[in-house]
Amino acid sequence: MIDEQQIVQALKPIKDPDLKFSIVKLGMIGNIGIDGDKVTLSLKLPLPGSPGEKTLLDEIKSAVSGLNGVTDTQVTVSLMTDAERLDLANRIHGREEKGGASGGPTQISEKAVANAAPLALDSDGKIAETDPKRRQVAEALETVEDPEIHLPLTALGMVKHIGIGDDDVAIEVTLTVPGCPLKDKISSDVTAALKKHDWVRNVGIQFGVMTEEQRQRVAEIVRSSGQEQPDAWKKMSPEELAKRVIVVCSGKGGVGKSTTTTNLAFALANTGYRVGILDADVYGFSIPRMTGIHGQPRVQGDKLEPLAKGNLQIMSMGYFVDENAPVIWRGPLLHKAMKQFLQDVSWENLDYLFLDLPPGTGDVTLTIAQALPNAEMLIVTTPQPVATHVAGRVAALAERTKIALLGVVENMSYYEKNGVREYIFGKGGGKELAEKLGVPFLGEIPLDQTIRERSDTGKPVTLDRKLAISTPYFEISERIANVHAPLISV
Ligand code: ADP
Repeated sequence: MIDEQQIVQALKPIKDPDLKFSIVKLGMIGNIGIDGDKVTLSLKLPLPGSPGEKTLLDEIKSAVSGLNGVTDTQVTVSLMTDAERLDLANRIHGREEKGGASGGPTQISEKAVANAAPLALDSDGKIAETDPKRRQVAEALETVEDPEIHLPLTALGMVKHIGIGDDDVAIEVTLTVPGCPLKDKISSDVTAALKKHDWVRNVGIQFGVMTEEQRQRVAEIVRSSGQEQPDAWKKMSPEELAKRVIVVCSGKGGVGKSTTTTNLAFALANTGYRVGILDADVYGFSIPRMTGIHGQPRVQGDKLEPLAKGNLQIMSMGYFVDENAPVIWRGPLLHKAMKQFLQDVSWENLDYLFLDLPPGTGDVTLTIAQALPNAEMLIVTTPQPVATHVAGRVAALAERTKIALLGVVENMSYYEKNGVREYIFGKGGGKELAEKLGVPFLGEIPLDQTIRERSDTGKPVTLDRKLAISTPYFEISERIANVHAPLISV
């Protein structure tokens, strides 16, 4: 007859694929039942959706089935309770420390683990703990910032549970991404902050990972934190940046917003104006590629110097950002950085500053629109009804934020072959949109291979006024120069 001890022994060598510790020692195995030659047991997972779950189940079944006399093994999978997870964290923590150079394991009392309860916050995200010790701990945690996002862990919802013992604290911290490289830093910051209280001798931290929904929530918090500093924005006035600030928007991506921005900027520069481009399209920084202006902007005092070429000055967030960073992080973080960009770039005597914004009516667009009320919005659309419809939404945003609409440019309007124009994407959508909005229709740009090739290789067609294909851009830039947008504010 088989007994429970044999089963436990058989399972001991199996390690959790993520945590790299024995599942038995981690307390992940429970409710072992033996009924003749049938074995039932439960596997308790610390986190839902572990990618290693299937491997683990296979290993458990094969280990138990390999025991003499077992014909059937049933494993039920469940999620650990919060207390069980904290316990698991402490087991791991103790082991890690044991193996480390610093010696002894951190002993977290059962009392701290058993007391673990969610951190209480009020509706404004302020600490609402009433117990004095819990409050002390929560306030200490409030001083610890996420090293990347630079906001307190508490405000970001990263502190999930706090458990208080007599002289120790058990904390559960949820990380935004699994395998967060900043885990050690967070761990030492949390420990240092808590140990400032004399009564705290030991700190046990369990790390979990946020769900997608929680991550979105963090992104929201980061975004709104950027908007909650109106003072910094208020100092901004478009006049400080350039004589005219033109915010280029599109309803959706891929309509040629960056291509149009680049060519119009080059056309105006070629006409003799001093022109800047600020590339803030976090979904793809194309301005360095399209302008062919690459490099590392220099810091001069507390200002960033744009990269300059002739009459052009360029600043792209792409010069500073890891291209591989996930967009969800790029968005909110850059949104914060945007403020810095608007304030800290030392543009020199610009006549025009073009802002290449992300497509749609996202936060960057909204914030910019609010921050620069005297800026003018240029809408780029293709002729399709869908594109003009979404572009219309951008215009509605302009109306809401009282930003002036400069006009509509229609891109990829037609394809010309042997003097015959084909209206591939439909005809007249841009013009209709402009009429509907009551703003100038500034012109049509054809779909043209030279435009694409030259933009994509850093030699926009408007570098050369003699090129026939550059004419529509020069005409549009002339109209822009002649329009006094604030007079047509919607
Ligand atoms: P967005 O900034 O709206 O995402 P891009 O300016 O990056 O769009 O343009 C998307 C692609 O379409 C680029 O490869 C660009 O070269 C090409 N493109 C844009 N406008 C034209 C045009 N008028 N003719 C041909 N290709 C174009």
